[in-house]
Amino acid sequence: MSFNKIIEEVYEKVRLIGNDGQLASYIPELANVDSHKFGVHISTIDRMAFGVGNYRDKFSIQSIAKVLSLCLAYQILGERIWSRLGVEPSGTAFNSLVQLEADNGIPRNPFINSGAMVISDILVSELDNPREDFLSFIRGLSNNLGLDYSERISASEKSVGFRNVALCNFIKSFGNIQNDPNEVLDFYFDLCSLELSCKELSELFLFLANNGQTLFDNKAILTKSQCKRINALMQTCGFYDESGEFAFKVGLPGKSGVGGGIIAIHPNQYALAVWSPKLNKKGNSYKGLKFLEAFTTKSELSIF
Ligand code: GLU
Repeated sequence: MSFNKIIEEVYEKVRLIGNDGQLASYIPELANVDSHKFGVHISTIDRMAFGVGNYRDKFSIQSIAKVLSLCLAYQILGERIWSRLGVEPSGTAFNSLVQLEADNGIPRNPFINSGAMVISDILVSELDNPREDFLSFIRGLSNNLGLDYSERISASEKSVGFRNVALCNFIKSFGNIQNDPNEVLDFYFDLCSLELSCKELSELFLFLANNGQTLFDNKAILTKSQCKRINALMQTCGFYDESGEFAFKVGLPGKSGVGGGIIAIHPNQYALAVWSPKLNKKGNSYKGLKFLEAFTTKSELSIF
């Protein structure tokens, strides 16, 4: 059966189930999103593209952006980045402070907030104009000049970002943030505020299904080995405290964000983006997970 047909069928099935879960209200702007939005888009390395529902609507990708900042830092510094952070699932909340004390300010992985702040610190050190240079990097991944930050979302998050401020300063106290914490936090909030549609997201992430190379101009963003490692990290750490469950039920590397988006990668096949804003108790899109579980079950394709 073709991907299009499976997507249509699964979308219709999941559209009709109850819209359970809650919007991520801890960032005020995210509570203003229409909770009934639901979109899906696939981009394949055979250059097939297909979307259903609200797949053209832009939404706040939040933590999904942490994969992109990691890719750029990895491209610049190579394996040296792993002296500043780990590659293990944390088993604690994404914004937790507790492990950092015992781990001397070395975050467990790049996808929890503390890890993403260390990556942000690396980019603030390495890039001449971090905000602009990072945007150019992601625009170049799918040749899309329409990608941008949302000042509305970053300002909203900043206005209540006390815990992130605490995290960044705490890591600084261990010496694992080298720049001014305010500068690092501004970059981090910008990064989380990126707004993309499912279509744009799946096009953007296709290089991770293509051994680290962009499909439209065959540019090597990462080496094959680095690409495998990013996918491995998404597999083990991409879904907060539900990464095991995602591997168990879906069987693909992926990353979620509290805006209700999920990107899933099938190496050598496709990048698939889903968006439905209501989150389950673990902070992952309720319908997004249901969709991906049914999609990989029906297509009988996963990495396992
Ligand atoms: N900007 C969000 C925060 O720092 C990201 C959360 C997420 O999507 O996991 O709280």
